Amino acid sequence: MFNVENIRKDFPILSRTVNGKPLVYFDNAATSQTPQQVIDVIVDYYSNYNANIHRGVHTLSQEATDKYEQARKKIQTHFNAKLAHEIIFTSGTTHGINLIANGFSSFLKKGDEIIVSALEHHSNIVPWQMLCERTGAILKVIPMNLDGELIMTEFDKLLSDKTKLVFVNHVSNALGTVNPIEYIIEKAHGVGAAVLVDGAQSSPHIKPDLQALNVDFYVVSAHKMCGPTGVGMLYGKEAWLKKLPPYQGGGEMIAEVTFEKTTYAELPHKFEAGTPNICGGIAFGAAIDYMNAIGFDTIAKYEHELLEYATNKLLEIDGLKIYGTSKHKTAVISFNLEGIHPYDVGTILDKLGIAVRTGHHCAQPIMDFYKIPGTVRASFSFYNTKSEIDVLVEGVKKAKTMLS
Ligand SMILES: *Cc1c(COP(=O)(O)O)cnc(C)c1O
Repeated sequence: MFNVENIRKDFPILSRTVNGKPLVYFDNAATSQTPQQVIDVIVDYYSNYNANIHRGVHTLSQEATDKYEQARKKIQTHFNAKLAHEIIFTSGTTHGINLIANGFSSFLKKGDEIIVSALEHHSNIVPWQMLCERTGAILKVIPMNLDGELIMTEFDKLLSDKTKLVFVNHVSNALGTVNPIEYIIEKAHGVGAAVLVDGAQSSPHIKPDLQALNVDFYVVSAHKMCGPTGVGMLYGKEAWLKKLPPYQGGGEMIAEVTFEKTTYAELPHKFEAGTPNICGGIAFGAAIDYMNAIGFDTIAKYEHELLEYATNKLLEIDGLKIYGTSKHKTAVISFNLEGIHPYDVGTILDKLGIAVRTGHHCAQPIMDFYKIPGTVRASFSFYNTKSEIDVLVEGVKKAKTMLS
């Protein structure tokens, strides 16, 4: 049985106060909080077996290597990748996307097309613009509707034999829309294009089955799913990873080096140059264990309850508008109070101990679409409660009184 009060005890940070008030943490889409079980793994690593991996013959190095590779296997199992070496450790989603964008430089020619969606995070737009500049490829954008959903009939029209790559996030960080990636992947494959899905915002709420999705690449950040910052996963189909050139040169990624020629190491090491975030990788594995112990179905069901509760309560406030009204949403609410700047609302909420994000959420094109400077975004996690939502609703009412 899911008991949120017991779950909350796992997160030391949730018992602190902010500005004299109990912390209400509703900025989970920016980063999630870390349970004691994951903190313990980090402390254990540095206390007991901190060593460089894959190199030393000594015991500590072997222990660290084993734990790191076990974490890779955990990630493989969780996302249901076929092979452990299809899991590349990265520093996070941004790194994974750049690795692919860089690799595709050698596959694209002038006039080829890359399709991205109107719902993208900046980290999923800029690398493609840079790739287009390098190669002469053209960037096309799947437009969105007022509910914050991608328009699939427009996507169909963009596809052609010129399409080489399609990049879309699984869930929009600004609005919470869950995108129809199954459809996108199937259609893109129909014209021979590869698909990269940004799973940074889906992975905290949904357990994707990468083999069933048949996606070519999928990227996530550990810090959005109860893990530490500075580590993430790039999944790539083996055939693609073999074809792609390495991203960075350095130790760990080579088989043999002479001044004439270097041969690259086997997967996954080809893409893991230098000493990785060893502790982070191991803690990422622990975070996945933690979330699976609760269960992703349980998490999704509870978060959906929070979303419905908060949506109904917030909409009772006169002049409050929610952006992103798709039926397919994770527990994210982006909203504004009529005539009031989101930043001012966020500042008052902070005084009340409530952490929300304000601004464009690294997704400025979405804000331009709605012709707003930004929104207040409250994003919920399985450790949040309805009474915290009540605190938010009271806070928003107070902000409205003070600012209008
Ligand atoms: C957070 C986020 C990113 C960037 O993740 P980093 O951990 O900062 O690299 C990319 N895409 C989406 C949808 C995100 O939510």
